[in-house]
Amino acid sequence: MENLWTRCNNCRRILYKQDIIDNLSVCPACNFHFRISAIERLNMLFDEAVYQTFDDNILAQDPLNFVDKMKYSERLVQNVEKTNLNEAVVNAVGTMGGIRVFISVMDFSFMGGSMGSVVGEKITRAAERALKEKAPLITVSCSGGARMQEGVLSLMQLMKTSSAVARLSQASLPFISVMADPTTGGTTASFAMLGDINIAEPNALIGFAGPRVIEQTIREKLPKGFQRSEFLLEHGMLDDVVERKHLRDYIIRALRLFLNSPQ
Ligand SMILES: [Zn+2]
Repeated sequence: MENLWTRCNNCRRILYKQDIIDNLSVCPACNFHFRISAIERLNMLFDEAVYQTFDDNILAQDPLNFVDKMKYSERLVQNVEKTNLNEAVVNAVGTMGGIRVFISVMDFSFMGGSMGSVVGEKITRAAERALKEKAPLITVSCSGGARMQEGVLSLMQLMKTSSAVARLSQASLPFISVMADPTTGGTTASFAMLGDINIAEPNALIGFAGPRVIEQTIREKLPKGFQRSEFLLEHGMLDDVVERKHLRDYIIRALRLFLNSPQ
């Protein structure tokens, strides 16, 4: 019976789990946005939750034979088993409001949504498919940044993904970037901040280096709410903060404006 209930991380209230799920994984009491999986996100965004995933079978290599607490190759196997995903991003195509769109969604539960070669490659491929089919691209980021286990190969994904979304811009195809909690490091420093519109869910942590690193570097206390969505909106770094329950309609409206199609 215990599993039916959970505590909200934000307001500390004990809540009936199903009430949270029915509310798109947002706390019904305080509006705290819980982290959701890539698949849950795709189900929320696409019309009738219908879509096809693609590039599902691109698997990471371990070119550096990297070992931290365990071998990177073992960590990958462990994460595949844990998440039922092959990598930290899922590519899908379907329609939103009847408009054919490509969506890449990151999943934090796979190695903190870190961007290694495969994540970079998949986002690039999604952008390239969108370009080929003259369709919009939407990314939903939820990521701790570049994947250290792949060293410089991860850093190269910043340039690769940035170039890929730049080609959409050259072709006048819309690219909408959605940032969920958290969107940090190399993900922020590349495609996530390059949307035609950059929007975030409420109270998402968005930044490059973490607050502690910045405080230690500049030896100053950071202002309250620093690196949260609302702070970034106020300081011109975001175009909007959108609650999850409005996100789908918001994106559809934006796409119709970009594509100049009222229907
Ligand atoms: Zn709450």
